[in-house]
Amino acid sequence: MASSDRIGIVGAGLSGAVIGRALAEAGHRVEILDARGHVAGNCHTERDAETGVMVHVYGPHIFHTDDTEVWDYVNRFQTFQPYKNRVKTTSGGQVYSLPVNLHTINQFFGKAFRPDEARAFIEAQADRSIADPQTFEEQALRFVGRALYEAFFKGYTQKQWGCSPTELPASILKRLPVRFNYDDNYFFHKYQGMPENGYTDMVARILDHANVTVRLATRFHRADGDGYAHVFYSGPLDGYFDYALGRLGYRTLDFERFTYEGDYQGCAVMNYGDFAVPYTRITEHKHFSPWEEHEGSVCYREFSRECGPDDTPYYPIRLVREKEQLARYVARAEQERAVTFVGRLGTYRYLDMDLTIREALDTARLYLARRAQGAAM
Ligand code: UDP
Repeated sequence: MASSDRIGIVGAGLSGAVIGRALAEAGHRVEILDARGHVAGNCHTERDAETGVMVHVYGPHIFHTDDTEVWDYVNRFQTFQPYKNRVKTTSGGQVYSLPVNLHTINQFFGKAFRPDEARAFIEAQADRSIADPQTFEEQALRFVGRALYEAFFKGYTQKQWGCSPTELPASILKRLPVRFNYDDNYFFHKYQGMPENGYTDMVARILDHANVTVRLATRFHRADGDGYAHVFYSGPLDGYFDYALGRLGYRTLDFERFTYEGDYQGCAVMNYGDFAVPYTRITEHKHFSPWEEHEGSVCYREFSRECGPDDTPYYPIRLVREKEQLARYVARAEQERAVTFVGRLGTYRYLDMDLTIREALDTARLYLARRAQGAAM
């Protein structure tokens, strides 16, 4: 028997906050614990003490979605400023536009192609012998050919994931489009924007409800679950089970901060495609808030490496070995009574923010519907 009618939520990131809010609005008392000293998880933003610029502390987060309910939801808690993600990349000593578009193709090959000509040219470069691409490399060779792959994807991906693109799934590259026009918007989505006062302010507002208590700098242990009617757990899945089946692999990021008087690179995100450059990208944070004025600038050089036991997990590595290990953890998770595993870390997936919110809204609805039916939770 549960000893309380309180609901426990582990993690005050997007998953935890959205679930907590929905349950609180339905009249439940909710307690949210987070091991860190701030809410918002990895989308945490704060003002840089020296420059006053709003910084994406755990790397760039751009909100984009086609989901009208999710867009309306975030707009309830924050004014969103229009923001288009336009990413550049430096490769072989030149700066190009991403995602690969007609400008990138014409500049790279020294041509003046129109869309149909560029399409035919790229198709001639593509390796047609690959019928059903399985790996990242096969996907790239099949759709953009070797020259563009080596300039823009091979080195970056090797740095980002710490392994050869021949070992990675094609799904990672499928995140990036190739365009035969001059559209350099990184995302296709209908709604895009940046929260005016940052993601942390947005999440704090989601959590601002009389039925919600937030405890920061508070670690959750499995035994603590007994104190709640139900637990929604958005921490690392393997951590919940004390890593009994080994650690699931993650990439972590290190950021090297530097400041600059003026405008360092002229855009928010500059990728570095060459393997010889040790960092993957440089983020100049003030360009995420173009509606604000700042003389000074703060930038982060971003380095990716294997995640150790004391590091912050970022990107789940879902190779064959991890997928097998994940299946064993999922089987254990299914045996847990009154615990729901949610979010990027709780389900060990590469999740965009909009999908995280969509899943959190659905999870809360399902829980409430089942409780209303009197189902054992
Ligand atoms: N990628 C690449 N070159 C780039 C940008 C991305 O090869 O200049 C690859 C890389 O493997 C990356 C994946 O495409 O992990 C997805 O890119 P996205 O920009 O979605 O990554 P995120 O911003 O989520 O790290």
